[in-house]
Amino acid sequence: MRRRRDAFSSPGSHTPKNIRSTFSSLTDYQFVRRLAEAGCKFFLYLEYTPIIEGTGRLVLTREQRKQLMELTRKFHSRLSALFITVPGHEEEVGGCLAAGRGFAHLTAEGDIEPCPFAPFSDTNVRSSSLKDALQSKLLNELRQHPEQLQISEGGCCLWKKRTWVESIMAEDRQEVRK
Ligand code: SF4
Repeated sequence: MRRRRDAFSSPGSHTPKNIRSTFSSLTDYQFVRRLAEAGCKFFLYLEYTPIIEGTGRLVLTREQRKQLMELTRKFHSRLSALFITVPGHEEEVGGCLAAGRGFAHLTAEGDIEPCPFAPFSDTNVRSSSLKDALQSKLLNELRQHPEQLQISEGGCCLWKKRTWVESIMAEDRQEVRK
């Protein structure tokens, strides 16, 4: 990849359980430096985001997230690559970037979801254009309510507010039936 000048990235996922082992390997400066020198241009540090009931204990603590942010800032100042932590950096830019505020997610089945970690969808590109799908009721409502998309104690704000999200989708289904 380096010979072909292809850019590549390195994703890593963290939970409090692996924060001592995997975390220390993936955030080891020499390891990260070698990857950056080999041509890795984008490092994505994903905190564990629970979308399964009962797994909330795997979310990083505020202190652990702070530690991760400090490390990535240090890497960014020393190495020629982009370092993003999610949701840590989202917090710095005003909250969740899902639903087209920064990105959206297209599944292999054609569903458009707000984000890869938010398994909610009310539209599919098999039955509409991508442009129309991005204007679905769910995505529009989420974009119109940034106050609901603030990130607090870790984990996904949409998953925490799934009752509200599901109510938007239920309203949409009722409107389609009318
Ligand atoms: S939907 Fe959840 S996991 Fe995805 S960007 Fe927003 S807060 Fe983060």
